[in-house]
This record gives sequence, C-alpha cells and structure tokens, in this order.
Amino acid sequence: MKNILMLATGGTIASQSGDNGLTPLLTSTQLLEYVPAARQFCHVDALQLFNLDSTNMQPKHWLKIAAAIEEHYDRYDGFVVCHGTDTMAYTAAAISYLVQNSPKPVVITGAQKPIDLEITDAKTNLLDSLLFASCDKAHGVNIVFDGKVIAGTRGKKERTKSYNAFSSINFPYIAIIQDGHIIFYLDDKRLLDRPVSFSHRLNDKVALLKLIPSMESGVLDYLAEHNDAVIIESFGVGGLPTYEGDDFHKAIRRWVDAGKIIVMATQVTNEGSNMSVYEVGKTIKRDFGLLETYDMTLEAAVTKLMWILGNTSGPDQIPGMFYGTVNRDILFTGAAGER
Ligand code: ASP
Repeated sequence: MKNILMLATGGTIASQSGDNGLTPLLTSTQLLEYVPAARQFCHVDALQLFNLDSTNMQPKHWLKIAAAIEEHYDRYDGFVVCHGTDTMAYTAAAISYLVQNSPKPVVITGAQKPIDLEITDAKTNLLDSLLFASCDKAHGVNIVFDGKVIAGTRGKKERTKSYNAFSSINFPYIAIIQDGHIIFYLDDKRLLDRPVSFSHRLNDKVALLKLIPSMESGVLDYLAEHNDAVIIESFGVGGLPTYEGDDFHKAIRRWVDAGKIIVMATQVTNEGSNMSVYEVGKTIKRDFGLLETYDMTLEAAVTKLMWILGNTSGPDQIPGMFYGTVNRDILFTGAAGER
C-alpha cells in the first residue's frame, strides 16, 4: 500500500456556493471523503496549505508547496496537490523547476466543478491523481486532469468550462487514465540519472508584454524599468515592429545594455517561436542575442525565468539554464549556432 500526501490549496474542487459566488471552503480531509475508493490502493494523509481561489496564487505559494513536498519527501511515495484550474499551469511549471528529477510522482490536479456536486469531474480527477501518485512507473511533476497526464511544464488551460480544460502543448501526453487503468505513452523513469533536487528561491520581477498592432515601445520601457526580465509575446514565429522610427529596437538596445533580460515568445499557442525566419525577428536576434521561448509554453517560460533569476549568480549562466531541458519543457532550440 502506497503512502500519499495530499496538499490542498483551494480551487473550484474545494469550493462551495456563497452569496458572492463560488469560494474554496472544503478542507483537505473533507475532499478525501469523496474518494473512498482510494483506500483500496493507497493510504492518504492530508495537509491544508491554504484555501485560495488560484487567481490569488503567487510565487510565495509555489515556494510553500515545494517546501512542503521537500519537508515530507522521505516519508511518502507520492504527492497530490489540489489546486484551482485558473493558474494551475503556472503552478505545475513552477513546481517542475523547484522540484527536479523526482523519482516520486508529484501530481497537480483540480476540477471544473466542485467535488460536493452530484455531477462533477472532481471525484474522477482526484481519484485518478491518487492512482497515478501511487504508480511505480510514475515520476516527476505532472498535471492529471480529465484522464490525461500532462508534463508539468507543458500544460495550458485552453477551455474555461469543459471538463477537458487542459492541453499538452507541443508535447504528447505522458499517459492516459481510463476506468482506473493507467496507459503510459512515455515511460522513461530509467532516464532519471540525478537525485531529486529542491530550489528555494524565485525572483518574481518577471513581466509579460503582449504585443497588439499599434503598440508603442513606451510600454516596454515601463516594464523593463520595473523588472529584471520582460517576455515579449510577439506575433507568429516572432518579431518586433519596426514602425515609428524603430523605437522598439532602440528600447531593446537600452534595456539590454542596462542588463535586463528580454525574451521573445509567441502568442500562438502551438508550434512555438523561431525568430530566425523573418527579417523583423532575425535582425533583433542577431543584434541583441535575445533569448526566445521556441516550443516552451508561456507558463513554463515565466516560471523558468523566475527560477533562473532566483538561482543564478551571473548573467553568463542564463542562456544555458534557459535552454537546458527541465521536466521536458523545451525540445526545439533552433539550428546550431542560432542561439
Ligand atoms: N477560479 C478557480 C480557481 O482557479 C477555477 C477552478 O479551480 O477551476 O481557483
């Protein structure tokens, strides 16, 4: 019988209706009462870390979740984090950077409907998560939702209401779970060649600028002035406007010289960036050596930068850390010599 620690953080799964709408009220122990079938394959202890709508989740909460996993790591065979769906992809990616190479599974789950409703996805998601966390073949940080197991760095909430809320972006599912059976599509536990490692710092001075046609470079100036890194979500495979006297290029020059990290990303969900294709991207990449996200999700890029900036001593280490694969977060990094 496996020993599992369930960490409750709130979300719809634990919510009940009040005068002002749904709010997380159920405790971790109450959540467990809805999945008695789990007793057949595991023993579960429950810990209530907080009870938040995940809209209120911040980097300090990610650090607390990772710290709780580290504190209890030796005593349990697997971990299940119950979480709101709205920022689950960010948390799953953040935990992927804070808890690396774990031979024990860390599962992040939640639901589109509260667990105390008669018709809900919550009981299935929680039971599936406990099953996956109890599985010998499972490892690392993954989202379990609607019968799919998604690498923690590859999840994205793509539907606000349907049960199949999460997609795995630019990467296959790790496994599917049907009627209590786990079918692995990827099974590379034997590739785990390093011991589990925990990080304890994040730098949250990371901002995101989503380009729209006509945007002026003053927005970039503001964000770069107040942060250590700015991700620019540009169009298509990636580029920056050259209108208005090339103001964006001048702004990039200023902020790169000031030591800020500027990362180019794409607002297109699937297939990723490649700045080297068009002149609007290739020139800024050549002139400033900017990093780009390639096939990483935005959630992974944001949390990876927070992790890198919180754990590196010198700017020279940043490209190597950013392009180094952690929990399957990046596979494509352009042709050789393009970095
Ligand atoms: N607002 C909720 C949350 O993210 C939504 C959910 O859990 O589905 O906490």
